[in-house]
Amino acid sequence: MARLAQTAGLSDVQQEILSTVRAFVDKEIIPVATQLEHRDEYPAEIVEGLKELGLFGLMIPEEYGGLGESLLTYALCVEEIARGWMSVSGIINTHFIVAYMLKQHGTQEQKDTFLPRMALGEVRGAFSMSEPALGSDVAAITSKGVRDGDEYVLNGQKMWLTNGGTSTLVAVLCRSDEGHPEGTPAHKSMTTFLVEKEPGFGEVRPGLTIPGKIDKMGYKGVDTTELIMDGLHIPANRVLGGATGRGFYQMMDGVEVGRVNVAARGCGVAQRAFELGVSYAQQRHTFGKPIAQHQAIQFKLAEMATKVEAAHAMMVNAARKKDSGERNDLEAGMAKYLASEYCKEVVEDAFRIHGGYGFSKEYEIERLYREAPMLLIGEGTAEIQKMIIGRRLLEEYRFQG
Ligand SMILES: Cc1cc2nc3c(=O)[nH]c(=O)nc-3n(C[C@H](O)[C@H](O)[C@H](O)COP(=O)(O)OP(=O)(O)OC[C@H]3O[C@@H](n4cnc5c(N)ncnc54)[C@H](O)[C@@H]3O)c2cc1C
Repeated sequence: MARLAQTAGLSDVQQEILSTVRAFVDKEIIPVATQLEHRDEYPAEIVEGLKELGLFGLMIPEEYGGLGESLLTYALCVEEIARGWMSVSGIINTHFIVAYMLKQHGTQEQKDTFLPRMALGEVRGAFSMSEPALGSDVAAITSKGVRDGDEYVLNGQKMWLTNGGTSTLVAVLCRSDEGHPEGTPAHKSMTTFLVEKEPGFGEVRPGLTIPGKIDKMGYKGVDTTELIMDGLHIPANRVLGGATGRGFYQMMDGVEVGRVNVAARGCGVAQRAFELGVSYAQQRHTFGKPIAQHQAIQFKLAEMATKVEAAHAMMVNAARKKDSGERNDLEAGMAKYLASEYCKEVVEDAFRIHGGYGFSKEYEIERLYREAPMLLIGEGTAEIQKMIIGRRLLEEYRFQG
């Protein structure tokens, strides 16, 4: 029988990258993930391994020292890594989004300054839109950047910053009314500022504080933080793309590729849950036979595998559409929505297959059960995906009567 989640039409280079990443996941991530997760410990050694594999520069163009690979290759690597431990994929995901935004929207000087060091993993990216009072409603952002000579002064509080402590370059979305006449729509008066900082917690740069790690239900190991700007001075040449007022579009572009990425993480976590469920079902006996021989359990396995296959196919489709240069917001929204919902369902079924043992921290499924919900929220909740999908459908199927 063919294994689940195979991808047709990959080049030799793509296959080689994927088999290297898979071997790394099986050898270096899976055996230690649950222990590290229970201690909420940053996977420093794994991160060094990812650097050596070149994964921090996977999609950064070769001229800047990266591997210049496609979104599809990147997403398939993320799927493999999330199969090992979702938090590790979170460490490269925000980095990848910031590198992508720089590549697409940065000035030449910004690309030359940051991309080569990002490809090596020396500069590590995080991105920050959310605030304590908003996540879905990005246009309601209140953090502000005000021009002061050759600088901008930033004030405001940000929330839910993945890699907030470990990153050294944060793309921060602020309102910047300068140059925009009264009545300009909110999303046209936003700017992305490239904020360089020291890693760590406390005052990491004058005017910039990273208070500490938020204690989370899952997605542990990777640091998630607040970010407080209190008179933070940023040179004018650190406005992404060199002009104000484009931040909303730049961030939405970044989040759109991020959605394919979250879909890939959902696929990876669901695959692992399936592997755990199908293995346990053949070892545990009840009523004189392995539970896999009870039809109710076989039906569960059949549903789980079908969901793994469907989510993988949609994720691959969304990545290929973007790689072909076409708009992919509909496909990315659908893939993110379906993969995260299916992931939660497959994990729940694998948990049920484990009976009482699924509730024990000794079993890996307990960790997956606490990790899957994050995918329902990150890069836009299910409701936000459905809003995007719905709007695009009405564009495509406009009533002509
Ligand atoms: C672990 C973690 C890491 C994160 N990392 C980052 C990061 O690195 N950078 C960053 O900027 N953000 C990050 N986020 C924030 C994340 O993007 C937001 O939590 C998410 O967008 C939802 O926003 P919210 O939490 O404010 O919920 P809200 O926007 O308050 O939504 C609450 C509920 O209302 C629903 N809802 C909202 N508006 C509508 C509507 N119009 N119609 C129907 N339903 C609606 C939502 O779907 C949700 O169910 C992270 C979050 C978590 C939990």
